[in-house]
This record gives sequence, structure tokens and C-alpha cells, in this order.
Amino acid sequence: MSETTETIFSKIIRREIPANIVYEDDLALAFTDVNPQAPVHILVIPKKPIVKLTDAESQDQALLGHLLLTAKHVAAAAGLKNGYRVVINTDADGGQSVYHLHLHILGGRPMAWPPG
Ligand code: 5GP
Repeated sequence: MSETTETIFSKIIRREIPANIVYEDDLALAFTDVNPQAPVHILVIPKKPIVKLTDAESQDQALLGHLLLTAKHVAAAAGLKNGYRVVINTDADGGQSVYHLHLHILGGRPMAWPPG
């Protein structure tokens, strides 16, 4: 997929396509993944269209921390009492398919390691 700041996630932020949004604030949005890989699979994204983790800069430090804390709150709200996995697939070798930075929250079953 080509790298652009305009992605399907931009359309979800603007409510141009539907999504099951479970959390929103001024900086972040969380919604369930359309192709879940676990009983709970939620994506947390910044509203700022950072393409990938590689492109995050020092000025994004607070935002990146906010995304992690948002993941914590979203996981708790989803009832993931036994734990969960947070994943950031980054660029080609990381398996990134949507080029708008996102955290995967995966839970509701034990996770294997190493990942594929
Ligand atoms: P990546 O492979 O980039 O780490 O993750 C992208 C994720 O976005 C995938 O898990 C994929 O299922 C999800 N996704 C792609 N398009 C949509 C969409 O239109 N709506 C939702 N809710 N998830 C999407």
C-alpha cells in the first residue's frame, strides 16, 4: 500500500465511513478492528495523521504517551482483566497495511510468542 496521510482511518475520523467507535477525545480515537484477530481487537489511532512510528518526532512525545494511556483505558473498559497485547506494526517488514499510525489492542485469549 502506498504511503499517504490520507487513509481509510482519516475517513473514520471524519465519520465518512462507519466504525464501531469505543473511545474518542481531542487527540485520539479507538474503534474495533473490522477483521478481528482475537475476541477483543481494538485500534487506537491519533487524530494527527502520523504515517508510521518511524515518522514520529520528539514533538509527538506527549501524543505517543497519550496513545499508550488511551490503550490502557480502552483495554480496561473492554474488560481485559487477564492482560492483553499492544502491537504497532511498522512499515513493510512490520506488516503495516494502513499507513496511519495505530496501536492494536488484542485480548480475550492467551497470545502466542513469537508472533508470525
Ligand atoms: P496493520 O496491518 O496496518 O497493522 O493494521 C491495520 C488494521 O486495520 C487491520 O487489522 C485491518 O483489519 C484494520 N482495518 C482496515 N480497514 C479497516 C476499516 O475500514 N475499518 C476498521 N474498523 N478496521 C480496518
